[in-house]
Parts: sequence; structure tokens; C-alpha cells
Amino acid sequence: MLKDQVAVITGGTRGIGKAIATEFGEKGAKLALIATKKSEKAIETLGELRNRFGDVRLYACDVKEREQVDQVAKNILEDFKKVDILVNNAGITRDNLLARMSLAEMDDVIDVNLKGTMYMSAAFIKSFVKQRSGNIINISSVVGMMGNPGQANYAASKAGIIGFTKTIAKEYGKRNIRCNAIAPGYIETEMTKVLDEGLKKEIMETILLKSLGKPEDVAKVAAFLASEDSGYITGEVVKVDGGMYV
Ligand code: NDP
Repeated sequence: MLKDQVAVITGGTRGIGKAIATEFGEKGAKLALIATKKSEKAIETLGELRNRFGDVRLYACDVKEREQVDQVAKNILEDFKKVDILVNNAGITRDNLLARMSLAEMDDVIDVNLKGTMYMSAAFIKSFVKQRSGNIINISSVVGMMGNPGQANYAASKAGIIGFTKTIAKEYGKRNIRCNAIAPGYIETEMTKVLDEGLKKEIMETILLKSLGKPEDVAKVAAFLASEDSGYITGEVVKVDGGMYV
């Protein structure tokens, strides 16, 4: 149960982030959702989750902008009075082979996926230290563990998240702050919708369980890591990939 726990979820209005928000809401958490902007879709999700769970708020913030991150953290702490769980889920892809990869494609992916995770964590860590508890869950990817052609930028960002996760676990374990990562495999969302059918078929052949993952598969593991059921787990990377990378 996550009753009365306050959870911040970046990219919480669609895809995997929305599924995590829904799972946490069902378990009694209060939700602070972050999206790049208060788009129609984001507001629709807000309404949907508010109807079901009550205490849900939406914040616009670009996680790659440190000032915006610090400001949104301040606003969330003022609105909810505390934060217990931070899920760094916001992420993007800008695929290309290295020789063709533009500076913008490199920077954007590292900035959103890796720096965004670092900025958000830094923005909440002081409040976690002060309250002598906190729980950070970072969404990495199996690609960060195994590499993937065309995704040098993305794989580097997701591998970076794993190093970051283990370091935060080591720095703050004695303060009762846990930090774990989830490494999803192929999950059906808008991010993967754009892949061509041939590639999807190839990927499917590598998945031992012979089915694509759903956002809910990741959300259930996030809920476990957020709860006291995983109270003795920190610095861990949990793959949710149907056996794609074994
Ligand atoms: P989606 O593309 O469906 O959603 C991405 C989310 O990230 C959106 O909510 C988006 O907000 C948010 N976001 C993107 N850029 C920023 C930014 N600069 N600041 C704030 N929020 C931002 O992706 P998924 O749900 O598929 O992916 C979620 C996470 O899971 C990502 O980190 C991804 O790398 C990871 N992952 C996904 C896999 C998959 O197969 N789908 C596999 C492995 C890992 P907005 O709605 O405002 O655009």
C-alpha cells in the first residue's frame, strides 16, 4: 500500500508514466504528475486520474531545464507538504547511426533522459534527507545494458542512469533513502509505435516470453519498488523485458 504517500512522476500523463500513476493511485498514493506542458492530452489524463483518486495535480516542466526543475520541486513541496517517492520516467529517443547523429540528437537525449533524472533527484534529495526517508525509482532500459544499433545516445543515457542509481543508493542509504532502477524491454507505447514492422518482428524473436510488454507490466514493478515490500532493496536494476536480455 502507498496510502498517503506523495509520488512525483515525470512523464506521468501518458505511456509508462501514466500506468505508474494509475497503479500508485490505486494503492492510495497522492500524485504529482509532470509533463512538458499542460497539453489537452495531459489535462485529459489529469481529469481521469482525479476522478478516480482525488488528490492529483499536474505540473508543466521541462526536466532538462535545471531552473524549471528546481521551481517545480518547490511548488510540489509547497502544495503537498512532502514528497515520498520520485519516479524519473520522462524520456525520449532520437535514433540514428553514430556517423549521422547530429549534435542536437546527442544532446537532447542525454539532457532529457540522464540530466533530467539527475536534476529531479537533486531537487528532492534535501527534502528526503530532512524527513529521513525517500524513494527514487529511475526508468532505465535494457538497451542501457546490452546496447542497440542506432541508439548510441539513448543507450548511453540509460547506462548513465544505472551508474547514477547505484551511486545515489550508496550516497544516501544511511539516510534511509532507497534508489532503484527499472530496465524495461520492448513496451507498447507511443515511443515504440513508430518502429517499423520488420524491426518489431526482429525484436519479438529475441523475447523469450514471445509477447510485447505493456505499460502495466512496468507499473507493477514500480509499485513494488515504491512500497515497503521492497524495503530491503536498493541500488538494484530490475529488468522487465520478458527475457529479452538474459
Ligand atoms: P512516451 O513517449 O509514451 O512518453 C514519454 C513521456 O516523457 C511523456 O509523458 C513526455 O511528456 C515525457 N517527457 C519527454 N520529454 C520530457 C521533458 N523534456 N520534460 C518532461 N517530460 C518529458 O514514452 P514511454 O512511456 O514509452 O517511456 C517512458 C520511459 O520508459 C522513458 O524513459 C523511456 O526511455 C523508457 N523506456 C521505454 C521503453 C518502451 O519500450 N516504451 C523501453 C525501455 C525504456 P509529454 O507528454 O509532455 O510529451
